[in-house]
Amino acid sequence: MKRITICLLSGLLLFLAFSCKPEHKQKRVLTLGIRHESNTFSTLLTKESDFKVLRGADVLKDQLWADVFKKAGIEIIPTLHAYAWPGGVVERTAFEDFKNEIINSIKNAGHLDGIYMDMHGALQVEGYEDAQTTLIKEIRDVVGNDILISGSFDLHGNLSPDFVKNIDLITAYRTAPHRDGAETKARAAQMLADALKFGWKPHIEYVVIPMLVPGEKSITEVEPLHSVYAQIPDVTKTEGLIDASIFAGYCWADLPRSAMRVFVVAKDKRYSTAAKDEAVRLAQQIWDSREKMVLDVPSGSIDEMISKSEEYTSKTVFISDSGDNTTAGAPGDNVQVLDALLRHDSKNVLVAGIVDPEALKECIKAGKGKKIKMNLGGKVDTVFGKPLKINAKVLFISPDSVMNTNRGAAVVETDGVKTVIIKTRRSFVEVNDFKEVGLNPLDFKIVVVKLGYLYPELRDIAPVHLIALTSGFCNLDMRTLPFKNVHRPCFPLDMDMVWKPI
Ligand SMILES: [Zn+2]
Repeated sequence: MKRITICLLSGLLLFLAFSCKPEHKQKRVLTLGIRHESNTFSTLLTKESDFKVLRGADVLKDQLWADVFKKAGIEIIPTLHAYAWPGGVVERTAFEDFKNEIINSIKNAGHLDGIYMDMHGALQVEGYEDAQTTLIKEIRDVVGNDILISGSFDLHGNLSPDFVKNIDLITAYRTAPHRDGAETKARAAQMLADALKFGWKPHIEYVVIPMLVPGEKSITEVEPLHSVYAQIPDVTKTEGLIDASIFAGYCWADLPRSAMRVFVVAKDKRYSTAAKDEAVRLAQQIWDSREKMVLDVPSGSIDEMISKSEEYTSKTVFISDSGDNTTAGAPGDNVQVLDALLRHDSKNVLVAGIVDPEALKECIKAGKGKKIKMNLGGKVDTVFGKPLKINAKVLFISPDSVMNTNRGAAVVETDGVKTVIIKTRRSFVEVNDFKEVGLNPLDFKIVVVKLGYLYPELRDIAPVHLIALTSGFCNLDMRTLPFKNVHRPCFPLDMDMVWKPI
């Protein structure tokens, strides 16, 4: 009798152990990312060395999205996360190296429940029609269609129909200038964690709006888009709907998929009508307000903007050199605004900055306090720019220049105009960028930056902002760019077109 009881108890324990195991098994999510905004008009190829690449534990450091997974009790398997400053299309070998490493990691990861993609959405690679879709299709080839894939994107991404077919959950920034990068990624993680927990089978509905709009005309802090983006939280409160995203799209990409889009994600297909209705409703509002999407600050030619800055006698005026906006992929070595400032005999002016590693070397060689002659800029952008001959006094050489890091910079002065010469392509987007070269932007009458809209920190401190409509790879007038591949008709290339969201 005793032996029978022991046998029964052992059997019961074994049964409980096996029957409970699947429910308590920790979910596993693999993460990856290739974030790049690729300007197809730019002649500047983005190379593997331009990417900052993180792997393993470094990926998870100080990341809100990683905390979301941890809090949900999900095991994270981080693979390669690569990010590069916006530039021309990405070198084929760079993309293939990244892709192959990611695919191999997935093959070796063991059982997976989900995948999180940390993307920008405007990646374009030489020789590929749509590299983002190649990547996600190869992932699907390994993991199959049952594993949930969630992605976070910059709202300046362009996602093709084939890419969307292969992803389950999409969310994008809700602010431009961007203030919600960390929150967006955390939302993509939360959606995936919730979908795994509750067993959702997410369903995406979307509308493509045939519009090419630069970020400077689709700022979410001002009308007409402010009120449209403000409706997103209410959409997500609708029964069965998880998320909504409005992609302003990336306009400096001459690709069939370049357009605005509204995405609405539902918990499952039962809510597809509600999702579609919301996507159509928001798309219609955007289309109806297309003529109102204009620059939110005064704009004009360089000469007009320099003259206009004189109206603001006691305020610092920021002027964007918008055609050579390095945050949208331009080379950053065009000197047309510097040339104009010198012609205007403008004083107390800062140009931040001109990318020219050769000129920086000459400054370092001459040394602080020395006067030199140089041919500045116009070496990479030879389409819209040419070098400018200047006599300059070297005022400052940054410690980074001495250490030969990529942040190397020098400040030179020519007839009352200070110019920051920088080693690698970047923009001055934060106060700290100015501090690094010993300057306070608010000490100047005019500050020229290689941007379109000002990034949040500068936007918050700039007393006045003007946009100079300079020529370059990021020209703000879409109609002046040589589009060949973008889907037509498309606003504003075809101003009289008629369209209805379907
Ligand atoms: Zn963006």
